[in-house]
Amino acid sequence: MKITDITLESYEWPRPKPIRNGMFVYYNVRLDIVTVHTDEGLKGVGVGSGAPGWDAVIESLKPGVVGQDPINVERIWHQLWVPKLTGRRGYETRVISAIDIAIWDLIGKITNQPVYKLLGGFADRIDVYIAGGYYEEGKGLAELAEEMESNLELGARAVKMKIGGESMSVDVERVKTAREAIGPDVKLMVDANNAYRHHEAIAIAKRIEEYDIFWFEEPCGADDYDGHARVVAATSIPISTGENEYTRYGFRDLIQHRAASILQPDANIMGGVTEFRKVADLAAAHDLAVSPHGSQDVHIHLVTGIPTGLILEYYRDTVDPMWDTKFKETLRLDSDGMLAPPERPGFGFGPNYEALERHRIA
Ligand SMILES: [Mg+2]
Repeated sequence: MKITDITLESYEWPRPKPIRNGMFVYYNVRLDIVTVHTDEGLKGVGVGSGAPGWDAVIESLKPGVVGQDPINVERIWHQLWVPKLTGRRGYETRVISAIDIAIWDLIGKITNQPVYKLLGGFADRIDVYIAGGYYEEGKGLAELAEEMESNLELGARAVKMKIGGESMSVDVERVKTAREAIGPDVKLMVDANNAYRHHEAIAIAKRIEEYDIFWFEEPCGADDYDGHARVVAATSIPISTGENEYTRYGFRDLIQHRAASILQPDANIMGGVTEFRKVADLAAAHDLAVSPHGSQDVHIHLVTGIPTGLILEYYRDTVDPMWDTKFKETLRLDSDGMLAPPERPGFGFGPNYEALERHRIA
């Protein structure tokens, strides 16, 4: 079998209300679908959070992919990566990620296996946390508590909330409110999205330690490995990071700086499944846990396939009005807050092109 083409479709739709974290406001949801075509009719689908210009990057990368046997995914990754003189982290790596994810979906379809089994099939199910707790206009402590309680009604046994977007006192009060809303037995994570200087992160960590925080995510700037390490050394709360990191080399640097106890690679960003595997192995060699960032439909396979998987990040309808319609299959939590990877070949989610069509932008 040979790869014959790579195509891109881009979609974007508004959220009913913008959501804000410690650094950014998000108005729209964007979905980029990269499809890898073959001479035998099978297609692999990769998803990513793209940006204008992805089509040009895909055109430039095509010669390294077209004509290849999709099973040779390491060879293809190497051919995409090595000739690159620019964009070793960032934009181009995100495009490589989407292509690589599509190729793994294709390999699953060729072999009639779900991706988690191709990776080693370590776990049949995994713990899940619902990510949310954003800042929104008109959302006070009562509304935050309501959101957290409604997460529990969905079956959640772990929840995450944003910090770093208000004064420290307000955020400490928000964390206290969330802990009281979910009770003592549900895991609570906080995520600052790079908002703090290390001394600020240490200060708030000290103030929220009493609320039994499962992890403190991205306390400092993504490139501030030393700042992260100082926070790690100063608090009993485990520090997690990695959603803005690229390739095995970025995770090697995080590990060498002792910048985190929990690594959060995002296969859509850091280099795809092929590179994610290498980060999982790096984590295993250092006894670190892996909890992938975002894209639950891809990462359910990755976090269960590997032996270092800790817990899956899960987004619900509150952050995406097309949560239940953009793919043909929607992952829903089990009553005990866990999820099993789909047994369908590949990643097992098909884009719902009919529903997406009216949001198409390219
Ligand atoms: Mg995060």
